Amino acid sequence: MAICLYCTEDKDLCQSHAVPDGFFKLISRKNNGKLITIPEGPNALHLTQNTGKSSLLCEQCEAIFNTRFDAPIVNAFKDWDKQIIHDGFSVRYEFSPNQMAQALVSIIWRACETHNVMYNNSKIRKSEKTQLLSIIKSNQDSVFEKCSCSIRRIYDYTENNNSGFSQKEVSQIILPPFAYQTKWGKSKKVKGFAFDILLVGFLCHLFFPKLPSIKSNGAGFLNPKNHKLHAPPYHFMQYEPLRKIAIAGYSKHASGNSKLKK
Ligand SMILES: [Zn+2]
Repeated sequence: MAICLYCTEDKDLCQSHAVPDGFFKLISRKNNGKLITIPEGPNALHLTQNTGKSSLLCEQCEAIFNTRFDAPIVNAFKDWDKQIIHDGFSVRYEFSPNQMAQALVSIIWRACETHNVMYNNSKIRKSEKTQLLSIIKSNQDSVFEKCSCSIRRIYDYTENNNSGFSQKEVSQIILPPFAYQTKWGKSKKVKGFAFDILLVGFLCHLFFPKLPSIKSNGAGFLNPKNHKLHAPPYHFMQYEPLRKIAIAGYSKHASGNSKLKK
């Protein structure tokens, strides 16, 4: 028995995912059940079955998270991804922006509460975790009073000359949530925290507290009143963590530092 982090009751805990298992299944189904990991540091490229599980929630709460957040968001990204691969970046995907943002917050809250090494970059302060939890527990319609969220679609402009990543390959990339501090406003007085997370080709940014409207009017920001979501294209080399990983992955592969079958 242990304390469930959501209902705070003393119960048997399940092995919970932060990034929903459904996202890993979308990828591994295309790769015969395999996931490729590009580790930081000297370790070789390898296949993994680590999908970031950790004891977090009781069975009842796990079921609530699955129904309320995970199943809808996995299906949404799966369909949105298909539409973009088929019709390009102009796709407007019909989905509730409130539900999308709240589900993303539920993922990063779980990530920052787990002890699984996959989420080593998701560490935030206790008071910040409390803010995330209050968004998960609050009414969906009030999510955008407490945070801002943007979603962009990663692409590679060299894909057409056969050397870059195609959109089908991009949709097989997941980066666990990455937490950082932010400052804005006159003389940077407003302090907040933010997360990036890359889910099957969609780069999501979440900012707490919500950004002033002048900042959150930009491309890709979700608007609570607009249920046609648009993920503008964003070149992967512009996003430093992904660029570093792509370069590390390529150099490990090129130098033979890899346990993957040739
Ligand atoms: Zn519980």
